[in-house]
Amino acid sequence: MKYKNDNPPATSWFPFQANNPLHLPHFSATIFFGRKKKKTEQSINPQKMESGLKPMDAEQLRENAHKMVDFIADYYQTIENFPVLSQVQPGYLQELLPDSAPTHPEPLQHIFDDIQAKILPGVTHWQSPNFFGYYPSNSSIAGFLGEMMSAGLNVVGFSWITSPAATELEMIVLDWFGKMLKLPEEFLSAGKGGGVIQGSASEAVLVVLLAARDKILRRVGKNSLEKLVLYASDQTHSALQKACQIGGIHPENCRLLRTDCSTDYALSPNVLNEAISNDVTSGLIPFFLCATVGTTSSTAVDPLLELGKIAKSNEMWFHVDAAYAGSACICPEYRHYIDGVEEADSFNTNAHKWFLTNFDCSVLWIKDRNALIKVLSTNPEFLKNKASQANLVVDYKDWQIPLGRRFRSLKLWMVMRLYDCYSTAIFVSLFSSSAPSNDETCATKLNLGLLDAVNSTGKIFVSHTVLSGKYLLRLAVGAPLTEERHVNAAWKLLQDEASALLATLW
Ligand SMILES: *Cc1c(COP(=O)(O)O)cnc(C)c1O
Repeated sequence: MKYKNDNPPATSWFPFQANNPLHLPHFSATIFFGRKKKKTEQSINPQKMESGLKPMDAEQLRENAHKMVDFIADYYQTIENFPVLSQVQPGYLQELLPDSAPTHPEPLQHIFDDIQAKILPGVTHWQSPNFFGYYPSNSSIAGFLGEMMSAGLNVVGFSWITSPAATELEMIVLDWFGKMLKLPEEFLSAGKGGGVIQGSASEAVLVVLLAARDKILRRVGKNSLEKLVLYASDQTHSALQKACQIGGIHPENCRLLRTDCSTDYALSPNVLNEAISNDVTSGLIPFFLCATVGTTSSTAVDPLLELGKIAKSNEMWFHVDAAYAGSACICPEYRHYIDGVEEADSFNTNAHKWFLTNFDCSVLWIKDRNALIKVLSTNPEFLKNKASQANLVVDYKDWQIPLGRRFRSLKLWMVMRLYDCYSTAIFVSLFSSSAPSNDETCATKLNLGLLDAVNSTGKIFVSHTVLSGKYLLRLAVGAPLTEERHVNAAWKLLQDEASALLATLW
């Protein structure tokens, strides 16, 4: 495409214009001040940097990024050749890399060689079809392309004006996602609520905890911080404990209520009721309940409807942590796991777990966005602008801890558009294996031995948990490359290693 120098289209702001002779090889920018035009030459002289890689140059980007994509595609093609769990020893990399940064620029090929020889051995291959540890943290082509686009534009969209599309696309895709999950309308952006992308479920629970803390303190007086009590099950993710540590909630007021196999490790409403009434009798103030849909340890699901009603009758904030399992609830057959979410004040799921969205993308919806904004907003002079002052827009800086934020909604948007989104949720299951013994110490030893034996083959990676004092192996299926044959082979390997281990005992 060609156009005259004195009449550039608005897209001339975009720095990568390979087809535009005006913008290469020199960096130049046409700046509009009102109706006047002023052309400025920037001070970077590409001639000076001819020998190496420029900070930005469309043709160099094209050439090098193609090489990078080829390298990554080759990685995926050969991913099954690597030991799934990295087998290196602590400190291995220090031995392989120099003590200080290089003084001269190097060719990209040297870096690829080093990645191959020195970095990949120290990588645990989360995207391997034989990765069954912790939880799936998917990548996908769509998610990858979204990451690329986000890195390409590299905007810092903290307020609407800093990139209106970044804010508006985030609102739109989170409304789409909310509708896919059939969340109550109060969570959507048309009313008083809305969705926001956080970096992690840990940040999500922290920001809602802060909102809940300040909301109750406005009611009962700010000197009552030490009386605030929070409830969750003992299966709750440690992210909640961290949020309490940061949020100033007294550790002795964090009630992690006991669960057991009689409820499949879900929080019992009776146990919760009893704890609340004990605390109220002692003059304490219940203010926050966190329920989990899909605990990380054993995928336990707390009964949202009953718990939510208890929270409501005690005027507590009710947060639902569905970081692990929430994405599955877009499937009609799993939606019932979040029945009762209408009682919640906030709901979170990690799109970066198994919604095919490359890390990071944790999605939080809140019914009363003002509660969040009240505790997190700031308004320094240098960020003031007409749209924000007039209250016409969402400024996501007021919904999160950092100021700066990435254009992460591109990833979700691309995942939803490039795939049939209702088939995006991949089946996750969890098996547990327990050695045939009534002696717990012996069983734990055997399971530990089995875990070690299996993982050091490098063929698969599984992780463990402890439930009611029992040490269990977890096998979480959900990497996009995993096929039935991988799961069958993993099961066979577990059996073979277990038999070998048992044979040493007899
Ligand atoms: C993974 C997980 C978290 C923490 O996720 P981050 O995004 O890494 O902070 C919290 N809760 C549950 C239930 C999880 O499975």
